[in-house]
Amino acid sequence: MKLLIKGGHVVDPANGIDQIADIVIDGQKIIGVDLGLSDQTISGGAEIFDATGLVVCPGLIDMHVHLREPGLEAKEEIRTGSEAAAAGGFTAVACMPNTKPIVDNSIMVSGILERARREAAVHIHVIGALTKEQAGKELAEIGDMVQNGAVALSDDGHFVEDARVFQTGLSYASMFDIPVISHAEEESLAGEGCMHEGLVSTILGVKGRPAVAEEIAVARDILLAEYAKARLHIAHVSAAGAVELIRQAKRRGVKVTAEATPHHLSLTDEAVYGFNTATKVNPPLRSADHVRSLIDGLKDGTIDAIACDHAPHAPEEKDVEYRIAANGFTGLETSLGVILTALYHSKELTLNQIVQLMSVSPAAILGVTGGSLAPGATADITVFDPDKEWIVDSKHFYSKGKSTPFDGKTLKGKAVATVVAGQFVMKNGEVL
Ligand SMILES: [Zn+2]
Repeated sequence: MKLLIKGGHVVDPANGIDQIADIVIDGQKIIGVDLGLSDQTISGGAEIFDATGLVVCPGLIDMHVHLREPGLEAKEEIRTGSEAAAAGGFTAVACMPNTKPIVDNSIMVSGILERARREAAVHIHVIGALTKEQAGKELAEIGDMVQNGAVALSDDGHFVEDARVFQTGLSYASMFDIPVISHAEEESLAGEGCMHEGLVSTILGVKGRPAVAEEIAVARDILLAEYAKARLHIAHVSAAGAVELIRQAKRRGVKVTAEATPHHLSLTDEAVYGFNTATKVNPPLRSADHVRSLIDGLKDGTIDAIACDHAPHAPEEKDVEYRIAANGFTGLETSLGVILTALYHSKELTLNQIVQLMSVSPAAILGVTGGSLAPGATADITVFDPDKEWIVDSKHFYSKGKSTPFDGKTLKGKAVATVVAGQFVMKNGEVL
């Protein structure tokens, strides 16, 4: 079955395309992207999707999500999380290993991939734990997990305190040329803090997590990656000093990449006034100067990717006092809208840069297919309306997690259709 996506503004940075064009898909593959291609290639029988006024790009990939299955299905399941991804315009996500039990062995990796094949609306990639039970003591079954499909390793949620363990993990991962993803926060500094340490935390009288807790951890991890000549990826960078450390490390050839989240790129710690627990996240929302540094980091290539750190929780974990509320919130259904609103419509980034950050780079970092509309590529495609205004209403999320600091906010820009391997999995906001 052929599909023609007609007349859209095709943004395909990997192939230097940024113009109105048609895309022809046959079965699971892209046949071609061209102006006027349709007339000669389509001889009837093709489904036509009119993309006039819309942007068409390689499928968005979020390299940092928590799908919570197995064991934590009250928060999310592979099915619901993948539907949230499809609704948000993502054709692939990579899930973190902090499920119950932890994904620290090959059987767990295979199990998630198997379940994803049966239930998921989008491609699911698995990130294995770096250490057994993410306890930071002994390395997990890295080789076996990679053999069974793990694309990266991470103890996300925890900083690996033991430098020797982390360095050995980096060395081991480098044998498979996969990245180790670091949740970089020095716990002895961040400890009991539950927001950014600064003026607002002082006014509110709340214990803070200082930026230096992140910066010291990023500095250590960079030094270890440099020593081990291994690939390091810094998750959810939020501190200005961390951006500068990554910038300098890249200059001297360290194999470090980094991601930033839509919330750290668009909100400040002032969002915590009023103690809405939907603003509680690790690392915390920081002050405006940090946000500025993150955006500058995206613009000059210091930060490679945007990932939302989709972290759904059950209502009872968020509907409590700020101090004890769970960290993190749902992100897949607002990510693109927040980025377009905060960075495209404010003229900070071009569409080309956004597609690079949300599709091309994540595919490259994880070494997975995607990020390109080249002929012969798998037809993973996102169609979005950059100008559509909509009000976030988490009650209508596909995700089980309803907590988000963007609830009730007006965003400009929304996914219209998501195509995975040549099939529509979402059309006009509805997951099929
Ligand atoms: Zn994390």
